[in-house]
Amino acid sequence: MDGISARNLRMEFGDFVAVKDVSFEVASGEFVTLLGPSGCGKTTLLKMISGFVTPTGGQIHLAGKNVTDTPPEKRDTALCFQSYALFPHLTVQENLEFGLRQKKVGQTDRKERLDAVIENLDLSLHLAKLPNQLSGGQQQRVALGRALVMRPNVILFDEPLSNLDAKLRDQVRIEIRRIQRDFGLTAIYVTHDQAEALAMSDRVFVMNGGRIEQADTPEELYSAPKTSFVADFIGSANVLEAQVKSTNGNGEIELTTPLGRLVATSSNPPKSSKVKICWRPEHADMSANGENQLTARVKHRAFQGHFTDLHVDAGGAEYRVQTNKPAIREGDVVTFSLRPDQIVLLEAVA
Ligand code: ATP
Repeated sequence: MDGISARNLRMEFGDFVAVKDVSFEVASGEFVTLLGPSGCGKTTLLKMISGFVTPTGGQIHLAGKNVTDTPPEKRDTALCFQSYALFPHLTVQENLEFGLRQKKVGQTDRKERLDAVIENLDLSLHLAKLPNQLSGGQQQRVALGRALVMRPNVILFDEPLSNLDAKLRDQVRIEIRRIQRDFGLTAIYVTHDQAEALAMSDRVFVMNGGRIEQADTPEELYSAPKTSFVADFIGSANVLEAQVKSTNGNGEIELTTPLGRLVATSSNPPKSSKVKICWRPEHADMSANGENQLTARVKHRAFQGHFTDLHVDAGGAEYRVQTNKPAIREGDVVTFSLRPDQIVLLEAVA
């Protein structure tokens, strides 16, 4: 295949295993984000793909070629860091050209590649400036341009937006995605910002403790998390334990939970007689008298503009509920229902 293929990639630092036998495929032209908490192994995995770290086990193929032991400069990859790492004494133009000159790319080809990147990244007004005469966003664009002129098959990003303010992040985020599409690049993007991951990616690999816990589209991760870790990490979720009482042929599953009897529907059978389940705060429906009726007392209320966030007490535990009824106050008793198909079955409980 043309993209990236990893088989049982492993990285040990002494006794510590930072990446634990990870396997995945990334299609050519796909934008994949590695998302997870600090220390879960995202950067280490990215460094193995770029060649800056040699795995202690497993194999990696780029465009069908085994590159496991190939040094970074011999791989068809380019890396874009959070610190832009521009040469401070070289102008923007010289920074952009640097890699091409090193690779001894001919003048005509060099000019054609530079012109395309300068136009695409809107850098023409800044070519004679030094990096310290540029804003953070402009420096980021030069760093991106420097990677793009190399026309890599695979572009790797390590938290490239973390030094930018919120507004600029949104802007550069859209730019990165547009350029990645225009140039048909395969992209791996590392972040611990879930909003960024959901907004940008074709697929997100959610990592936890050196493993990929779930690899799916942003929509699938949100609506059908497979584990409580993913449910909790992507958006907010109410997670609780449930005993499976019965299942029927229609995919209906009757559950005994701390909230009482609940009915869920799922095309997948429960993984065990005792499982974790979750539901999203925004799926609590206060207008309907549907199935899974629940009563709770409001402990805390936070008005958020287009909705109100409620922390409610039900059956002695606290849950989060969102409502568009701003008149609800702390101390009120509320009833809401949960649609069976919005109760998601997660992992088995040991
Ligand atoms: P962050 O979001 O904080 O950057 P990360 O998910 O990118 O985290 P990594 O940098 O991949 O995490 O590190 C994964 C684990 O491996 C961490 O516990 C880290 O301390 C450890 N680690 C990384 N590099 C080394 C090294 N060279 N020697 C020893 N341990 C290391």
